[in-house]
Amino acid sequence: MRVLITGAAGFIGSHLCEKFLEQGFEVIGLDNFLTGSPDNIAHLFGNPKFNFIKYNVTNFIYIQGKIDIILHFASPASPKDYLKHPIHTMKVDSIGTLNTLGLAKEKKSRYVLASTSEVYGDPEIHPQNESYWGNVNPIGPRSVYDEAKRFAEALSMAYFREHKIDVRIARIFNTYGERMRQEDGRVIPSFITACLKKEKIKIYGDGNQTRSFCYVKDLVEGIFKIATEPKISGEVFNIGNPEEYTINDLAKIIKELTQSNSEIEYLPKLEDDPQRRRPDITKIKTKLNWEPKTPVIEGLKKTIDWFKTVIK
Ligand code: NAD
Ligand code: UDP
Repeated sequence: MRVLITGAAGFIGSHLCEKFLEQGFEVIGLDNFLTGSPDNIAHLFGNPKFNFIKYNVTNFIYIQGKIDIILHFASPASPKDYLKHPIHTMKVDSIGTLNTLGLAKEKKSRYVLASTSEVYGDPEIHPQNESYWGNVNPIGPRSVYDEAKRFAEALSMAYFREHKIDVRIARIFNTYGERMRQEDGRVIPSFITACLKKEKIKIYGDGNQTRSFCYVKDLVEGIFKIATEPKISGEVFNIGNPEEYTINDLAKIIKELTQSNSEIEYLPKLEDDPQRRRPDITKIKTKLNWEPKTPVIEGLKKTIDWFKTVIK
């Protein structure tokens, strides 16, 4: 079996490449290194089942030979990244999705779209289940990501309905772990980096907003199930860990785990920042028998240990 993973040199993409290689698949990784790095996949280059192509998925994609599954994970994912690259983000989630779906049609591949909890925007129902349509500001700063992912979902479903492509959509909630960049801007790497470097922890808003955090190794197990389970064509799954924390509590926990004295600095709330987020994972639990296994404290300890090896 041969899979194509776009965004292969990114945080989740690199762990996915490892997972599929471990399971005996041949993996073609594709990435333009916009927010990823060759360091994330350097250890895979000697593997004869791994091929890498440096490429921008917004250009027409040609790949020789069969492809059984395409996993489209290329896209800036951190708010800091997509606010820095707003048009690129919209292109990779629209034109990049169109190109990879076109390739799936040509190769008769199964297709897995990396969507996001951001399609729910600043949600009015809590926790969020797959039938909720969301509350997104279409012209706010985050819309470059939220609306592009909503378009990517709509386009994937159009290919499912019109061309009978075996599409599966993963709505990924906040995920963390090894290989996130120190300067990535997302809350867990930012707080760990601040604590280890003895810098101030910056909290945007009053810190009472919540998120629910999934450890990356758990996430890739779930994505693997979404990609390999038969007969779930056209289905959408929330995937994440329902353990919910306020940002204030997260800061407290990371300070304790790193034994840090870093001060907390409160800064103005980010525009359209979702105030509560927790996945309802009933569907993926019931249909795919998946649920996260790593408690947040355990995952944070592993992540902190890894950050200690990269922060000198
Ligand atoms: P990441 O930024 O680490 O990885 C994204 C990768 O895509 C990078 O390696 C980047 O270089 C690559 N890329 C960007 N534009 C490209 C292009 N035009 N052509 C080829 N490659 C390109 O982010 P991540 O956290 O690993 O996220 C991966 C996917 O999962 C994204 O689609 C994201 O929207 C989705 N997701 C992630 C999370 C999370 O918490 N990490 C949550 C929801 C959804
Ligand atoms: N956040 C923060 N300090 C940081 C980074 C993020 O207070 O250094 C807050 C941010 O305002 C949001 C939450 O943490 O409320 C999660 O932000 P992140 O960028 O990790 O992901 P999001 O879920 O917003 O995409």
